[in-house]
Amino acid sequence: MKFYSTNNKNHKVDLREAVIQGLAPDNGLYMPEVIPQLPATFLNALPELSFQEIGFEVARAMLGNDLPETQLQKIIDHALAFDAPLVEVEQNVFSLELFHGPTLAFKDFGARFLAGLLGHFAKEQNREITILVATSGDTGSAIANAFLNVPGTRVVVLYPSGKISVAQEMQFTTLGGNITALEVKGTFDDCQRLVKQAFLDAELKQKFFLTSANSINIARLIPQSFYYFRAYAQLKAKTDVVFAVPSGNFGNLTAGLLAQRMGLPITQFVAATNSNDVVPEYLKTKIFQARPSVQTISNAMDVGNPSNFVRMLDLCDHDFDLLSKSIKGYSFSDAETRSAMQQVHQQSGYVTDPHGAVGYLGLKQFLKTNATYEGVFLETAHPAKFAEVVEATLQTKVELPERLLKFMMGEKKSIVITDGFDEFREFLLS
Ligand SMILES: *Cc1c(COP(=O)(O)O)cnc(C)c1O
Repeated sequence: MKFYSTNNKNHKVDLREAVIQGLAPDNGLYMPEVIPQLPATFLNALPELSFQEIGFEVARAMLGNDLPETQLQKIIDHALAFDAPLVEVEQNVFSLELFHGPTLAFKDFGARFLAGLLGHFAKEQNREITILVATSGDTGSAIANAFLNVPGTRVVVLYPSGKISVAQEMQFTTLGGNITALEVKGTFDDCQRLVKQAFLDAELKQKFFLTSANSINIARLIPQSFYYFRAYAQLKAKTDVVFAVPSGNFGNLTAGLLAQRMGLPITQFVAATNSNDVVPEYLKTKIFQARPSVQTISNAMDVGNPSNFVRMLDLCDHDFDLLSKSIKGYSFSDAETRSAMQQVHQQSGYVTDPHGAVGYLGLKQFLKTNATYEGVFLETAHPAKFAEVVEATLQTKVELPERLLKFMMGEKKSIVITDGFDEFREFLLS
């Protein structure tokens, strides 16, 4: 498979280069040159296949020529070592639980697939790879844990000080080894800007073998399409299917579009956001207006300039009508999110995290006028990861899974920096 830059369709690279570069030299995002079509035999067989078997078939269709099949199989088996179960919360309202991985959020899937690929490519290099990652919470923990002790790699995580939950923070500041946490006095957008700037810095690029691990990396995106297939496999009726995706940088939603374009019969997407509603606004007004992010209780979605927007446009041939037909956009306040969490909990006993609750709200909004659909919302994180909000909202204790408790007992180590590029640069060079 070749990958082109969204800024220049004639600039094409192979998988290895796309993954190591992360961002194209012209600042575009990489996209697969062709979208493989999965055969009907595969789609019909989905309910009989395991998650790993599904992932392997989808990955092979896209990347079959890029690495040995046995290697791809190994990477998939490791990345998908835990399932993505579908839980019926109300009639025809399903929660796709993406939090059964080591850091309790969906980002484990993409991070582990990326670590597998980079580990494979690193063997061919004789140089340490430095992975720079800006995080609004969950990316940092997923990447740090996926790369911990992977030979030939070092990870630098940048996160906005005081703007992520304690559990999120402990998952990557307690690891040590080849993982460093930079606590930035600024917002997530500042962190993302610092990383982008590092990639444009000639000296840094020459001195280090830099790569990014943000959702802009195509290796993060591809595995996120696998669980749409897995979800579909678990649905009963499979007539009209809607996926509601709680969104920040829109990696998940883009991966859903990719699955749809590969042949998975998804009828409709819902882009559900908190008050960082740039995309729902765009779908309403046709005007894309990036803004500084505002803080909400679903903080992993506090993104003012969603990086995957350009990929969504690309997948819809930059056709507004096609995009706005494929995706309905709704945004919700923190108050609405809290009351949805309470309502779901009272009605069914099911506990959603604030992000999943935004997805649930988007789904319910859509189902109001489309009652015949089977609806899936992505439950992107385990409620325990946002225990402070969940417990205050539901007035119940959230049990912390064992794997989270282990992090909470560690010792936090971070280096505090301002949001200026020079300080970040000096840290890297020191
Ligand atoms: C990252 C994250 C999101 C947002 O996902 P995008 O792919 O960036 O839209 C939503 N929920 C949780 C819990 C996350 O960690």
